[in-house]
Order: sequence, then structure tokens, then C-alpha cells
Amino acid sequence: MSKKSALHISKGVEDAPSINPRLRVQGKSSLGAEELLAGIRSGDLAALAQGITLVESSAVKDREQARVLLSGALKFSGNALRIGVSGVPGVGKSTFLEHYGVRLLEREPEARVAVLAVDPSSSKNHGSILGDKTRMVDLGKHSRAFIRPSASGGALGGVARATKEAMILCEAAGFTHVFVETVGVGQSETLVAQLVDCFLFLAMPGTGDELQGIKKGIMEMADVIAMNKSEGQRRAAAERSALEIKRALQLFVKGHEEWITPVTLISGLEGEGFEELAQDLERYERHHKIKGLFERKRAEQRLFWFERSLSEGLDRLLAGMESWNTAKAALREQVASGALSPFEAGEVLLERVRRNF
Ligand code: GDP
Repeated sequence: MSKKSALHISKGVEDAPSINPRLRVQGKSSLGAEELLAGIRSGDLAALAQGITLVESSAVKDREQARVLLSGALKFSGNALRIGVSGVPGVGKSTFLEHYGVRLLEREPEARVAVLAVDPSSSKNHGSILGDKTRMVDLGKHSRAFIRPSASGGALGGVARATKEAMILCEAAGFTHVFVETVGVGQSETLVAQLVDCFLFLAMPGTGDELQGIKKGIMEMADVIAMNKSEGQRRAAAERSALEIKRALQLFVKGHEEWITPVTLISGLEGEGFEELAQDLERYERHHKIKGLFERKRAEQRLFWFERSLSEGLDRLLAGMESWNTAKAALREQVASGALSPFEAGEVLLERVRRNF
């Protein structure tokens, strides 16, 4: 692969702090935000892990420290290429990330790879797609890699927010590539798409109806598609599946981006097709940067998170007001019994809010 590989980014690498192999923070239970930021900036992975734990924390005592840490880290962030990796459970996301990540690190001495996860199930049962780190043994051992399982607890929106903040800290630590892994079950993709520059969807052949499980929304969202498990005897089936997907994609040409989502055959297990996939990703990055779409997308994403945090904050604010809760409970009964239309009830409640302003 050429020096200018797909995942190479020109911006920011020279600013990246060198890695400090000594984990200076290890053993200390809690550091202040400034100390943590200094540790993170020096490439101290234990400080990074501790910083992420801090921003994930919902404890009131941690919120202020987390805010200070994030606002300090923000000015050093933004230089990584952010790639979402999605697909149904078992499609081979972890295997792919393990091998692709290691290959990237071997080919690019300046590269540093972080893998974060958004796991919709983690908020319910504390299961985590990356909880089992043994699936990425080699990458996990690499001194220029960092793997972080999904934050557990809280709603999906909270997990996504924690991932966004973890991403900021990873970028402040000088990571050049942040992969965000998520399971292909719908809602989580929508949020992950708002976190990343490029959305890579992994599909696999031989499931009969290839488009089953690849929902319309995902098709529209995918920037690059890789048909995984395409090695050996599976090759012919993979080619057929890729063709089917390409046909379906014609319905979803991203006109405004002038980008046609490529479909490439790979084997995450054998490392086959990585060169072509790297080129797809590089083309995507170049195309979007040249057209000014890269920055525009990030600006839109910032606005998305702003709007979202505002509406979630408003919900929390109202839910904390007793008069709101009492009035709402009474209206709920009337709506459930059919005595009042849901829309009228909504208006009644909103009118009360308006009058209070
Ligand atoms: P995930 O749930 O999407 O993270 O999938 P995993 O990475 O855990 O892989 C699921 C299973 O598929 C494992 O048994 C892998 O060994 C296997 N697998 C992953 N990639 C490939 C591949 O490229 N070819 C083949 N034949 N098997 C693969």
C-alpha cells in the first residue's frame, strides 16, 4: 500500500503527542481534570482510560470535572479520521477491526488506532460487544492502539454521547483513527452516523436473501460497504451478494454528495481485499474533503448533538417540575381513556408552560 493509505490523514499527525510508554497515572485512583488532560496529551493510556471513565460517570460530583476535562480537550480534538463500523452480530466486525487495525499500524508508523463501541444492548443488560476484549488480542496489545468497550448503563442516547466524548479525549491523546463499532440493529446506527466521518457497513454472503437484514435506512447511511467472509469457496456467493447490493444501492445514490457507495469483497479473517477497501476509504475522504463536504458534515453533526442535548435537557427539566408531572399525570389518564385527544392534551400542557414564561 502506498504511503498515503486510505486511512492516512495529513492533518494533525505532526501535532500528535508522542506516546509515553510509562503509564504514570496507573495506580492513582482519581486525578483532577488538569492532571488528567496533561496525562492524556502526553499519550498516557491509563490517563485516557480514566478520563473516559470520568466523562461516562453520571455522578454529580464528576460532572464538573468532566466538563473541565472536555473543554480542555476540545481544542486538541478533531484531527482523527472517524470511521463507523457496523453490521449484524457475527458478520465479523471484531475480527475485521483486529486485523485491519494491526495492518494499519504496521503500514503507517505515525498512525494510532482507537476502537470505541456503541452497544444498544449494553444499556439494558450490561452486555457489551467489546466486553470480550479477547476478540482483539493483537490490536489490544499494540502500543499504538486503544480499545474501549461500550459504556454501560443509561439510554442509548447517553451511551452515544459518552462515545462522542470518549472520541474527543482519544483525539486529544493523538489518535489518528477512531473506529466506532456498533451492532446493526437500527437505532444505534442512526446515532453512530452522527459521530463519524465515514460509515463502513459490513455485510456477508450466503444468507439467501442478501438484502435481508440490510435495512433501507442502513443502505442509505452506508458510505462504504464491505462484503466480508468472501474468501475461498465463499467467493462466488460473495460476488453474487455484492452485485445484489450494488443494484439495490442504485436506488439510494447520494445525489447531494455525488458519491456512489462502493461494495468491496473482503475477508476480515484472511486480510483479503484490505487494499481495495483502504482505497475506497481514501477515495471517500478525498472526495469529501475536496468538495468541502467533510467539514460540512461535521458542522451538521455538531448541530445535531446540540439540538439533541437541548431537547433531552428540556425533557429532564420538565420532568423535574412537580406541577408539570401532576398536570401530565392527569392528562395521561384522560388520553388513555379516550376522553381527550393526544394532540389536544399535548397542547393543553404546552399552553401551561407558555403561560409560565
Ligand atoms: P462480530 O459479532 O460482528 O464482531 O463478529 P466476529 O468478529 O466475532 O466474528 C464472528 C465469527 O465469524 C467468528 O467465528 C469469526 O471467526 C468469523 N469470521 C469473522 N470474519 C471472517 C471472515 O472473513 N471469514 C470467515 N470465514 N469467518 C469470519
